[in-house]
Amino acid sequence: MVSWFELKREKSFIGGVWVEADSGASIEVIDPATGEIIGTVPNGGARDARRAIGAAKTAFEAWSCTTADHRSKVLRRLSTCILDHQDALAELLTREQGKPLAEARLEVGASAAYILWFAEEARRIYGDIIPSPWPDRRITVTKEPVGVVGAITPWNFPSSMLARKIGPALAAGCTVVAKPATQTPYSALAYGVLAEQAGVPSGVINVLTGSAREIGGEMTGSPDVAKITFTGSTEVGKLLLRQSADTVKKVSMELGGNAPFIVFDDADLERAIGGAIAAKFRNSGQTCICTNRLYVQAGIYDRFLERFAAAAANLTVGSGLESGITQGPLIDRSAVEKVEQIVADACTKGARIVLGGARRDPDSLFFPPTILADARPNMRCTQEEIFGPLAPVYKFETEDEVIKLANDTEYGLACYFYSRDLSRTYRVSEKLKYGLVGVNEGLITTEVAPFGGVKQSGLGTEGSKYGIADFLNIKYTCVGGI
Ligand code: ADP
Repeated sequence: MVSWFELKREKSFIGGVWVEADSGASIEVIDPATGEIIGTVPNGGARDARRAIGAAKTAFEAWSCTTADHRSKVLRRLSTCILDHQDALAELLTREQGKPLAEARLEVGASAAYILWFAEEARRIYGDIIPSPWPDRRITVTKEPVGVVGAITPWNFPSSMLARKIGPALAAGCTVVAKPATQTPYSALAYGVLAEQAGVPSGVINVLTGSAREIGGEMTGSPDVAKITFTGSTEVGKLLLRQSADTVKKVSMELGGNAPFIVFDDADLERAIGGAIAAKFRNSGQTCICTNRLYVQAGIYDRFLERFAAAAANLTVGSGLESGITQGPLIDRSAVEKVEQIVADACTKGARIVLGGARRDPDSLFFPPTILADARPNMRCTQEEIFGPLAPVYKFETEDEVIKLANDTEYGLACYFYSRDLSRTYRVSEKLKYGLVGVNEGLITTEVAPFGGVKQSGLGTEGSKYGIADFLNIKYTCVGGI
């Protein structure tokens, strides 16, 4: 059995070689549960990015000409390698990211599932023959890989977010330069180890750590990069969109969210509580589809609050490596301080703390599950993405009112609602302006279903049969003189 530190690499993976940064500089990686340094990674910059893009461009020549069947087999092997090391990869993930081991295992399992899904999709990249309007000409449509893909990923799902990009890119015949978040580089660098084991050719997957600004600038500015796929904040997404404009790249963006979670009077209360706990407190609230605002109808408001607080009080905060822990630390100091400021803002504007509310140890990154009652629209928690274990609960009266409140945000990623009324189920889900809707369900992500936001939550779709389209160009060929 391979242990987590055997999968930990402290160099970037470029063109099949493990390398230091060109400058020789490195960055420390911290375990958020203990504050200890668990290692270093290269602090790469623009020159390193150019090298990685060059390696990906060279590898593209051969990889883009392989058969779909070949790419499918390579991806299958990669998926198997991930599962073979599931426990070690999960521990590596927990040590750099903080989430409980059980959640890390699930994430690694999801990574394998995404890669397998796209191994299968690789063989289904069909074209068309279109009935020609001309008797002497024939029309065919084929799909071709876009080219080198720049993939920039966040720290909250450092393994699966990269799988969701590497999978379709490789399936389509593209090559990848990946830049993981500085806080969590090891789960991404592990893809270098896995790629070697699975026989992915050199240069097809490159993983580069270092300065986000420099590497991102090089990726977006390079004419040799055909597409940027990004998961992260709306703010950085907008920057990358602007930077990509000059070279007219394809872009896909999975950005922030502000998910409403609506509980109607006619909901199955116990089911709604279970869904709210999952949708709010998974990964200590650090997911872009975590609920940000809980709207509860007046008739069950008090009962919901009481039961929700009782359920959240059963969550256990601590190091993700310890058994029985459900809530790990937040990723860093600024993440905890943001939650504290949002709680303080809500309290000065009239919210009531029902559970939690403050760190027990001001030096740690552990923030307890926190519930605020009587939240109002003028509070920061209503408009900003909280990204922490804070659940603001709002009281509402009517269906029309709550739909307006739920849609009153610049974001449009996930939303959830609970009701046992069938016609309301259709009515409400049709009116909610979101890319993902959970009806009587709080956890809805799977590799087989599309994932993507509307409004300022993003562009494009990941996962599912739709997730490969953004990695392909459509080519129309007209053959005349027949
Ligand atoms: P979060 O707020 O969740 O940390 P970010 O959008 O800041 O989200 O980070 C997501 C990813 O974007 C990370 O890999 C981060 O390093 C990267 N990133 C941050 N700033 C830039 C930038 N200016 N250019 C390119 N990538 C960036």
